[in-house]
Amino acid sequence: MDLLSLRRRPLRVVWIALIAIVAGVGLYQAGQWWWRERRWRWIVVHHTASDFGNLAYFKAMHQRERGWSDIAYHFLINNGTAGTAAGQIEESDLWRKREGNYSTKVHTVNEFGIAIVLVGNFEKHPVPELQMQSLLQLILKLKKQYGISPDHIVGHRELWQTACPGKHLNMAEVRRRLAEMEKR
Ligand SMILES: [Zn+2]
Repeated sequence: MDLLSLRRRPLRVVWIALIAIVAGVGLYQAGQWWWRERRWRWIVVHHTASDFGNLAYFKAMHQRERGWSDIAYHFLINNGTAGTAAGQIEESDLWRKREGNYSTKVHTVNEFGIAIVLVGNFEKHPVPELQMQSLLQLILKLKKQYGISPDHIVGHRELWQTACPGKHLNMAEVRRRLAEMEKR
């Protein structure tokens, strides 16, 4: 071994370290991206079980009564009360930051699921068509964007013993209408 190759060796170490750092940062960023944009596997539908409010109203309620950082859901579909238009969709900070939701007691569904809530008590009355239209359009968009399978589009009560999202919000009917819309 001559003197020249000995002197080159530290340089090689520097190169290997640099490549390792670049690869590490790349992998970390790919992981971050996957977690933000590719982890979604469920869409879970809820109702508020009350006929008044908008996102700010329920967010304040959840922060006050449950001590959560935000409203429990990613999207809220308004019913025309609290200064909103019926069918108007609001997006929570939870969704903007792509954080998990607090909407069920099933941890994986909270972490890997998108939670949508409709304002209204659908145990007592049917879902107004404007809200239903917004729900179908929103689910269809999210379903396409994240490649969520139809059997993973569920109502809260299909995961847990609860009345939510109410007996008038028939999820089998929602899945059937989604399949119809996709055929068009
Ligand atoms: Zn629920």
